[in-house]
Amino acid sequence: MRIVLIGPPGAGKGTQAAILSRRLSVPHISTGDLFREHIRARTTLGRDAGRYLDSGDLVPDHVTDGMVEQRLAESDARDGFLLDGFPRTPGQVDTLAEILAGEGNALDAILQFTVPEDTLVTRLKQRGRNDDTEPVIQHRQEIYRRQTAPLLDRYASIILEIDAAGSVEEVTKRALKALVG
Ligand code: AMP
Repeated sequence: MRIVLIGPPGAGKGTQAAILSRRLSVPHISTGDLFREHIRARTTLGRDAGRYLDSGDLVPDHVTDGMVEQRLAESDARDGFLLDGFPRTPGQVDTLAEILAGEGNALDAILQFTVPEDTLVTRLKQRGRNDDTEPVIQHRQEIYRRQTAPLLDRYASIILEIDAAGSVEEVTKRALKALVG
């Protein structure tokens, strides 16, 4: 299964992706996690990406696309994946489409996670990552609304909308039901 998770920061994509990846036996590929690993390991890419993560801005497409292309070329992603946090821009949608077309593959589904905005902010503040301060949270929500949410139109035919309010277990159940019945 080739699946993309889309939803605003705080919708629980990462938590659900980790669970769904085990249940569906496909790797969980999170661009945010990949960036944070690069930053921890002090790679050149990590040094380039760090200030974007701190401010809540998107890392430029040429950096992000190359990193994703490399990750998707690894053998564990050959038969499927759960992409969490990518694509987030029109250019990234094109890049993903090109990668998949080159393999003769296509996405099976987009899981769109929807949650009321006040729930998002509460969840992020509880998590307390470096980029979970109030102004950066607001900025990331704004970027999601402006740049990422409009991408959903391009995926209209394969979107599965998941109500992501409620407990982790409830949301997992809804997602699995939508995906595998
Ligand atoms: P996340 O862990 O998905 O909340 O992402 C954390 C941060 O990583 C974002 O605020 C961006 O700075 C960066 N990031 C993650 N995914 C992408 C992406 N697809 N394109 C650009 N920047 C990204």
